Amino acid sequence: MPEMFREAKSAAECAECARLLAVVEKAAREYDRSAETDARVRLRRHARAVHGRELPLPW
Ligand SMILES: [Zn+2]
Repeated sequence: MPEMFREAKSAAECAECARLLAVVEKAAREYDRSAETDARVRLRRHARAVHGRELPLPW
């Protein structure tokens, strides 16, 4: 598993983060760039709204 995903998981352990990360990982595996970008946007928005912080990732 890529380092960035492991860091994101340890940084934000909640069901929604896990779900969105799974979507990002699946899209990345399938080289579906639009789905990957969309999932990353939703993950960032979720982290900001629910956890009150930016993801510690260069996304
Ligand atoms: Zn979360």
